[in-house]
Amino acid sequence: LLSVRGVRKAFGDHVVLDDLSLDVHAHKVVVLIGASGSGKSTLLRCIDLLEDVDDGVIELEGQDITDPRLDANAVRARIGMVFQAYNLFPHLRVIDNVTLAPRLVHKASRAEAEAEALAVLERVGLAAKAQAFPDELSGGQQQRVAIARALVGKPAVMLLDEVTSALDPELVGEVLTLLAELKQAGLTMVIATHEMGFAREVADEVCFLHEGRVHERGTPAQVLGNPREERTREFLRRIT
Ligand code: ATP
Ligand code: MG
Repeated sequence: LLSVRGVRKAFGDHVVLDDLSLDVHAHKVVVLIGASGSGKSTLLRCIDLLEDVDDGVIELEGQDITDPRLDANAVRARIGMVFQAYNLFPHLRVIDNVTLAPRLVHKASRAEAEAEALAVLERVGLAAKAQAFPDELSGGQQQRVAIARALVGKPAVMLLDEVTSALDPELVGEVLTLLAELKQAGLTMVIATHEMGFAREVADEVCFLHEGRVHERGTPAQVLGNPREERTREFLRRIT
């Protein structure tokens, strides 16, 4: 479904992604782990076309999305991206935060957009909060709204970057539970996280990034429980 092949990305002479390849099959959850600075966010941003790659190919549903002739907004509409800081618009009600993109990008009518928004808010358990403003919600609820917003338009793939790291510890669980439900529902997701417990629970595949490459990949049991590579062992020792 998503295929990253030989991607290189440098900022100045700092090579952040170095001939990186990654395949994500439909309905699978791939979790990216690795030290701070290993390139997890940069990889997700390249897939969402928020950064240009210097080299390599990124295919989504068989189409090379790095082709500069494509409309980046149309490509992004097929990708649901959720960031660490939920990035909701504070002056817009929950429902309007969720309908904004479909109305701008897909030119959906207000009625259509609101019906879909209510359906995705239902899915994240927040239909009752549709008329609230973001600052009337807890951090966990705000992040669930951000996830709802990313679900609009039925994206082919969801990219989630440290979606729990800005949350108070007691709010992390509700967001992780939601992601586990979305996995059950068959969504394809790429998730960067420092939550190894969560990685173990939801990942079909764990990829350990080191120096801009996938240094080790495998099932959670293998990569987290019995890593082959010394760097992976060292990383896991440091964080646990
Ligand atoms: P973390 O776990 O802290 O989120 P990460 O794995 O997501 O780390 P990235 O954010 O992808 O790491 O950053 C990888 C490297 O790229 C870092 O050294 C960072 O300083 C550098 N970098 C990222 N974005 C830029 C930018 N816009 N300009 C220059 N350097 C950047
Ligand atoms: Mg990051």
